[in-house]
Amino acid sequence: MSESIGLFRLLFWVAIIAAALWFWRRLKAPRPAPSTPDTEPAEPMVRCTLCGVHLPRRHALPEHERWYCSQAHLRQDSATGER
Ligand SMILES: [Zn+2]
Repeated sequence: MSESIGLFRLLFWVAIIAAALWFWRRLKAPRPAPSTPDTEPAEPMVRCTLCGVHLPRRHALPEHERWYCSQAHLRQDSATGER
Protein backbone atom coordinates (compact mmCIF):
# COMPACT_ATOMS: atom_id res chain seq x y z
CA MET A 1 0.00 0.00 0.00
CA SER A 2 2.85 2.35 -0.74
CA GLU A 3 0.73 4.20 -3.33
CA SER A 4 -1.86 5.33 -0.80
CA ILE A 5 0.91 6.52 1.51
CA GLY A 6 2.43 8.43 -1.41
CA LEU A 7 -0.94 10.03 -2.12
CA PHE A 8 -1.29 10.92 1.53
CA ARG A 9 2.13 12.55 1.52
CA LEU A 10 1.24 14.45 -1.66
CA LEU A 11 -1.93 15.76 -0.06
CA PHE A 12 0.07 16.60 3.04
CA TRP A 13 2.50 18.70 1.03
CA VAL A 14 -0.29 20.36 -0.91
CA ALA A 15 -1.84 21.34 2.39
CA ILE A 16 1.49 22.65 3.68
CA ILE A 17 2.03 24.71 0.53
CA ALA A 18 -1.51 26.03 0.60
CA ALA A 19 -1.08 27.06 4.21
CA ALA A 20 2.23 28.72 3.40
CA LEU A 21 0.68 30.63 0.52
CA TRP A 22 -2.21 31.72 2.73
CA PHE A 23 0.22 32.85 5.40
CA TRP A 24 2.32 34.72 2.83
CA ARG A 25 -0.74 36.49 1.51
CA ARG A 26 -1.78 37.46 4.99
CA LEU A 27 1.64 38.96 5.59
CA LYS A 28 1.55 40.99 2.41
CA ALA A 29 -2.14 41.76 2.21
CA PRO A 30 -2.89 44.11 5.10
CA ARG A 31 -2.52 47.57 3.69
CA PRO A 32 -3.84 50.69 5.33
CA ALA A 33 -6.13 52.95 3.38
CA PRO A 34 -4.54 54.99 0.59
CA SER A 35 -2.58 57.87 2.03
CA THR A 36 -4.33 60.51 -0.04
CA PRO A 37 -8.12 60.29 -0.10
CA ASP A 38 -8.29 62.52 -3.13
CA THR A 39 -11.83 63.82 -2.94
CA GLU A 40 -11.00 66.67 -5.29
CA PRO A 41 -8.20 66.38 -7.83
CA ALA A 42 -6.78 69.85 -7.29
CA GLU A 43 -8.35 72.65 -5.39
CA PRO A 44 -7.52 76.03 -6.89
CA MET A 45 -5.33 78.05 -4.59
CA VAL A 46 -5.30 81.81 -4.46
CA ARG A 47 -2.98 84.29 -2.85
CA CYS A 48 -3.97 86.95 -0.40
CA THR A 49 -3.24 90.30 -1.99
CA LEU A 50 -2.21 91.85 1.30
CA CYS A 51 -0.15 89.28 3.19
CA GLY A 52 0.56 86.85 0.34
CA VAL A 53 -0.62 83.72 2.13
CA HIS A 54 -1.95 80.93 -0.06
CA LEU A 55 -5.34 79.48 0.72
CA PRO A 56 -8.09 77.50 -1.02
CA ARG A 57 -10.21 79.70 -3.22
CA ARG A 58 -13.44 78.74 -1.49
CA HIS A 59 -12.04 80.10 1.77
CA ALA A 60 -10.79 83.31 0.19
CA LEU A 61 -12.71 86.55 -0.09
CA PRO A 62 -12.92 88.04 -3.59
CA GLU A 63 -12.84 91.79 -4.10
CA HIS A 64 -12.23 93.54 -7.43
CA GLU A 65 -10.64 90.42 -8.97
CA ARG A 66 -8.35 90.13 -5.97
CA TRP A 67 -8.35 87.59 -3.20
CA TYR A 68 -7.97 88.05 0.51
CA CYS A 69 -7.44 85.59 3.32
CA SER A 70 -9.70 87.42 5.75
CA GLN A 71 -12.22 90.20 5.99
CA ALA A 72 -9.68 92.30 7.87
CA HIS A 73 -7.16 92.14 5.04
CA LEU A 74 -9.86 92.88 2.49
CA ARG A 75 -10.84 96.04 4.33
CA GLN A 76 -7.25 96.98 5.08
CA ASP A 77 -6.16 96.74 1.46
CA SER A 78 -9.20 98.52 0.07
CA ALA A 79 -8.71 101.25 2.65
CA THR A 80 -5.06 101.81 1.77
CA GLY A 81 -5.48 101.25 -1.97
CA GLU A 82 -8.36 103.61 -2.60
CA ARG A 83 -8.17 106.74 -0.55
ZN1 LIG B 1 -4.02 88.09 4.20
